Amino acid sequence: QTVRPGAGGVDTIEAGHARFGGGDLSIVAGPCAVEDRDALLEIARHVADAGATLLRGGAYKPRTSPHAFQGLGEAGLALLDEARALTGLGIVTEVLDPRDVEKVGAVADVFQIGARSMANSALLTEVGRYSAEHGTPVLVKRGIAASVRELLLAAEYVLNEGTNRVILCERGIRSFDNVTRNLLDLGAVAHLKGATHLPVVVDPSHAAGRADLVLPLGLAAVAAGADGLLVEVNPRPETTHSDGAQALSPSAFVDLVRRVEALAQVC
Ligand code: PEP
Ligand code: MN
Repeated sequence: QTVRPGAGGVDTIEAGHARFGGGDLSIVAGPCAVEDRDALLEIARHVADAGATLLRGGAYKPRTSPHAFQGLGEAGLALLDEARALTGLGIVTEVLDPRDVEKVGAVADVFQIGARSMANSALLTEVGRYSAEHGTPVLVKRGIAASVRELLLAAEYVLNEGTNRVILCERGIRSFDNVTRNLLDLGAVAHLKGATHLPVVVDPSHAAGRADLVLPLGLAAVAAGADGLLVEVNPRPETTHSDGAQALSPSAFVDLVRRVEALAQVC
């Protein structure tokens, strides 16, 4: 199994009620991390009502600093399960450690491999094995300083285990300029759409690092051919443990969904 560069046809991958590839725009939204029950359920209800197709949120957080909040772990997974039961939204959540794949797989409708983990071949292999057995899709984020070729080779580690359910995610790469948190590589999105059969999604939140740029980057991603968006939403960005500066308010998220869906109609 390979990513079949140049194969043309796009695989569609279903997860919960969402479909990636095949012309739909799937919007994955939620907090950066699962922090507490009330906040998660409030955000989940809101993004479901606003038109998100999946709920995102980390129970295991890959933090740059070991002193920062690392996520609620198993308690966070239980809350994600509760949010799914309440809203019907499937769950996208990160797995950081190969030893947690079974545990996270019991809750995740889509595994997220974070940018910091893209080069962890042991994790990619373990997740690929689980996906081959259970069908759970794997969303692989491009590493912070990874080339497009390295992203595709990371995808191949997963595919090599016998699954074909991989979604690629562009989330910005490190650049010399800090006006945005990362540099969103839209050329990579357009390239990947033509060069592989895999769905491609974009995370404008981690690219922008600022809430005010999430909408324009999300629109640009749709125009470049993205099959979906990952967007962080939080009504209380000033007190959240991670990524508050880039979180959309609930009303800004409603506006984003309206505008990216309108654009997707004409793309
Ligand atoms: C996240 O999705 O919250 C996250 C940590 O993303 P990334 O791996 O792209 O930094
Ligand atoms: Mn985040």
